[in-house]
Amino acid sequence: MAALIDGKAMANAMAERTAADVAAFAAVRGFVPGLAVVLVGNDPASEVYVRRKVSQCRRVGIASMEHRLDDSISETELLALVAALNTDPRVHGILVQLPLPPQIDAGRVLDAIDPGKDVDGFHPVNVGRLSTGTGGLVPCTPLGCMMLLDSVIDEYRGLNAVVVGKSNIVGKPVAMLLLERECTVTVTHIATRDLAEVVRTADILVVAAGAPRLVRGDWVKPGAVVIDVGITRVTEPEGTVRLVGDVAFDELGHAHAATPVPGGVGPMTIACLLANTVRAAEAAGRHG
Ligand code: NAD
Repeated sequence: MAALIDGKAMANAMAERTAADVAAFAAVRGFVPGLAVVLVGNDPASEVYVRRKVSQCRRVGIASMEHRLDDSISETELLALVAALNTDPRVHGILVQLPLPPQIDAGRVLDAIDPGKDVDGFHPVNVGRLSTGTGGLVPCTPLGCMMLLDSVIDEYRGLNAVVVGKSNIVGKPVAMLLLERECTVTVTHIATRDLAEVVRTADILVVAAGAPRLVRGDWVKPGAVVIDVGITRVTEPEGTVRLVGDVAFDELGHAHAATPVPGGVGPMTIACLLANTVRAAEAAGRHG
């Protein structure tokens, strides 16, 4: 049986370390790190994510400032808020919850965030830093994936890593992080020919496609480590909602280790957001 990589337990341990870092920061600086969370409109999934992020901030002692805006807000008004948060000394991290309403160009808004406060790691400066291996804030989900991998892999050098999905928020940054560890990285996507054959080469497999149970057990090499980022809400015939990953977890008996859904990557994403906020506050202290 593949070992279970317990993201929930790891995220809890990480949150405790972050709480200690927040206390140490506050003891020296006299104030706590602050995270501004901007929510536009009332998308139910975004509401849930924002509530979770705010409550986790509270848990570790980070000050969270919520900005809830009507979905009729203009891009100019949102950009003005971002500009104000960029110069607010109490704010060390800025998170604009996606998706944004259609009248707003999300790229323009993300580009307007001060890269030093970009705790999601989506700003082109941070993307560039990641791809050149020169520091910067790393996107939370990919960072969480690496921590989960670190718990079961000692030596990455030379391993074959396959990433399924090439999104800017998961697939591409995960690939960059694996490349940085000197894995041989293959990035696959919807147009990849014979995906199963490519996946069979993986010592490390990270799947972020949003396609429930896409990866079957016979695609996975014996001894591989599997990180399942996918989360799809599936409604059962009797009306209950279940979260389903991109990998058929029950078919992974021959893998070395794997993450479950839920309880794998998901909890690590928020834990990394909190850690990034403390990092941003510490860096602001050094530069300011
Ligand atoms: P996306 O839709 O932006 O990108 C999906 C990628 O997968 C694309 O590159 C596409 O080409 C590829 N793809 C889709 N179907 C495929 C298929 N059948 N075969 C091969 N490739 C395929 O998605 P995203 O934002 O990267 O998210 C991917 C999944 O990860 C979603 O289920 C999302 O909910 C989940 N997610 C989870 C977390 C977390 O915290 N756990 C964070 C972000 C995303």
